[in-house]
Order: sequence, then C-alpha cells, then structure tokens
Amino acid sequence: MKTFLIDLKKCVGCYACQIGCKDEHCGNCWKPYAEEQPETGQFWMKVNEYERGHRPHVKVAYIPTPCQHCAEAPCMDAAKDGAVYRRADGLVIIDPAKAKGQKAIVNACPYGVVYWNDVLDIPQKCTGCAHLIDEGDTITVPRCFDNCVHGAITWGDEEELDLEGAERLCPEYGTAPRVWYKNLPKKFIAGRVHDPVAKEVVIGATVTATGEAGTFTATTNWIGDFWLRNLPDADWTVTIEKDGKKVAIETSTKIEDKGLGEIALA
Ligand code: SF4
Ligand code: SF4
Repeated sequence: MKTFLIDLKKCVGCYACQIGCKDEHCGNCWKPYAEEQPETGQFWMKVNEYERGHRPHVKVAYIPTPCQHCAEAPCMDAAKDGAVYRRADGLVIIDPAKAKGQKAIVNACPYGVVYWNDVLDIPQKCTGCAHLIDEGDTITVPRCFDNCVHGAITWGDEEELDLEGAERLCPEYGTAPRVWYKNLPKKFIAGRVHDPVAKEVVIGATVTATGEAGTFTATTNWIGDFWLRNLPDADWTVTIEKDGKKVAIETSTKIEDKGLGEIALA
C-alpha cells in the first residue's frame, strides 16, 4: 500500500507542493482519474497555514493537506454506483464520470479536501497523481512529492517508510488515513517576564507549568522570554520564580496556544 509521509519540521511553507499540483492538473485532464483542476477555488494539495499564540509570542505552522486516502473512507460510503473507489495501491479515486451530480461526496469528507466543480457538476480532489504512477514515465511519483525540494514529503510503500513517531491528522475522525505526519504542532505557552521595580526583564527565572497532564519547565532567556513547548491539551497553573519572588497564572491549552504577554514578577 502506498502512503504519504509529511515531516512538518522540514516544511518551510514555500507552497511548491501546492503549485506543483496546480501545474500538473490545471489545464490537464487525466481521465479516468480526474477532469481538469480549476485554476481557482480548488487546492488538491493545500498548504494550510495556522497562526498560533498571541503577539508578540506567535508561531506559524504549515500543514500540507491532500486527500488522506483513508482506509475507512466515508466518501466511498456516500458515493453511489461505485463513484469513489480504492485502487490496489490504496489511492482513493473519484471517478469523474460516475460522480456527476453527487455533491454528497463533498460533504462526506471530514477533512474538507473534496471540492465541488459547478461547471462540470462533479466533486474533485487529489488523485495521488495516479496517472503518473501508471505511466511509468519520467516522473512516476506525485508532483507534490517531486516538487518539495526540502524533503518534507515522502511517498512510497507503507512498510518501507520510517513511520516511527508519525501521527495521523485528526485521528478522532476515525477514517484510518494513509497520509502520515511527523512533528505535528503541539501546544505552547509563552510569555515575557519583567521586574516592575527594577524596570528590567528577568533573565533566568524558572517557569513551571503543572496540571493533570504533567509538569513542564522552562527558563526565561536574555530578553525575559520563556517558551513551554510540546504541551498536551490541558489546564495549567504556570508559576514563575526567581530570587524569592513568585507569580502564578491559571491558563489552558485545551483550545489554543497561549501567549501570556508581559508578566510582572513582583
Ligand atoms: S513544498 Fe515541501 S516545504 Fe514547501 S510547503 Fe510543500 S511540503 Fe512544505
Ligand atoms: S480524506 Fe476525505 S476524500 Fe480523502 S479518502 Fe478520506 S474521506 Fe475520502
């Protein structure tokens, strides 16, 4: 079975995978796997950009998101007349002829990677560049993989890829995706600590987040900043201590990353 492995630590958000997908599919009709991808409104390989935290403690995460080629694909269940099928190599394909008029296929995908083509009256999505793989021509891999010069995208036989530590995107959807990710962003809490009397940032303060999910520590750096990284989604008490001074803050990473801003160590 073929699978994608996307390492977000190597992804710089250059969008070359998205552009490669456009170059391959816009203006090209790869029947029986796909009609042309429209130039606007559809991104079969979409680089989703997430701004996390609060100013000035902000990070951006890029998550390239194609069809996840799920082993238990609800789009297949929603399709009539076998309009969505799985190839022997695992790629999930929408048959453009059979899928005409079947908008239910768009709504069935929890990942939101199926697009509706109003002009052709069909649902469309990533084919895993099945036409290239079949042809055995010069490029025999998906174009997004071929275009990623940073090595963030790997594609190949599942048993040959190094999937140690890899995770699925939104496993709670229960669709057993065949796209795996490494270094999916975990939550952080950040802040900047200052001494209001000395009117200086506090360097070397110990910052501890405690909660039911565990204990995490960090130290403020040369500009008084701390970053508590790789936190689980949970409620936290963050304590900041130095030279007998101490402050405690209640916060949570259940919904989002937290930038706590300026904190006075009084
Ligand atoms: S081409 Fe590679 S580095 Fe660039 S956005 Fe896509 S996955 Fe990330
Ligand atoms: S990601 Fe969506 S379209 Fe792709 S196989 Fe899974 S359910 Fe179907």
